[in-house]
Amino acid sequence: MNIVSTVKEVREQVKEWRAQGLSVGLVPTMGYLHEGHKSLIDKAVEQNDRVVVSVFVNPIQFGPTEDLATYPRDLDRDAALCESAGADLIFHPENEEMYFEDFCTYVDMEHLTKGLCGKTRPTHFRGVCTVVSKLFHIVQPDRAYFGQKDAQQLAVVRRMVRDLNFDLEIVGCPIVREEDGLAKSSRNTYLSEEERKAAVVLSRSLAKGKELIESGELDAETIKKAIREVIDAEPLAKIDYVEVVNFDTIEAIDTLDGIVLTAIAVYIGKTRLIDNFIMTIQS
Ligand code: AMP
Repeated sequence: MNIVSTVKEVREQVKEWRAQGLSVGLVPTMGYLHEGHKSLIDKAVEQNDRVVVSVFVNPIQFGPTEDLATYPRDLDRDAALCESAGADLIFHPENEEMYFEDFCTYVDMEHLTKGLCGKTRPTHFRGVCTVVSKLFHIVQPDRAYFGQKDAQQLAVVRRMVRDLNFDLEIVGCPIVREEDGLAKSSRNTYLSEEERKAAVVLSRSLAKGKELIESGELDAETIKKAIREVIDAEPLAKIDYVEVVNFDTIEAIDTLDGIVLTAIAVYIGKTRLIDNFIMTIQS
């Protein structure tokens, strides 16, 4: 496995693979890799001849008061995980390689990026769409892998690929969790021991919502209220949002129908965590 830091090196490597008729999968990440990322790499290795993992903490998807400076980084550890999972190339660029000093071209999406995380993080998806577009142009993969953990991001990337005619397949992968249910996240490292225990409230509250839907409840307000009650009972937790939306449009719905995303964002102390589940309701 090779680690490269320039666009030129990635292009040369991918060109060589293409000349041999090999297919290429891309797994975009911000590094500090865990089992969730590994599940994406595993899937990519299964479905492609060669796999590129990008490790880049993308500055333009962070707001001015967010955790860009403190975001955990450990390239040696990431490289070991990628190598053992069977990836072929890590692309680890510096900020200057991705963004010229006078960089001024962005990919911005309407509608889908306004709700859920877009409310608290108004410039986040512009940063995501821009960096993902750049990575697609640099690597030109056949397939790219995204986790359902960031369900709104998955919907946004799928829409961008459709709207802008990117010639690749987006593969969504299920959420990987800790034993107690907490969704794996690089940001879980911010949690103190006490906060880590409290953080299980996210998946517990969603389990309550899921249980209600499975028992036939289709009223979004009732489901949101039940989820809120579970979270509110945890003193260390503060709700950012609890929403029930259409997974394709990310628009709020009153009555559950079709492919429904129930998504939450919760502060545990100062750390903002997200979680969700997707269900298909046959009406
Ligand atoms: P990040 O490094 O947090 O930007 O995540 C890179 C990719 O890994 C995104 O597509 C995430 O949705 C995915 N991912 C992160 N955590 C998980 C998880 N627990 N389960 C599945 N996918 C994940």
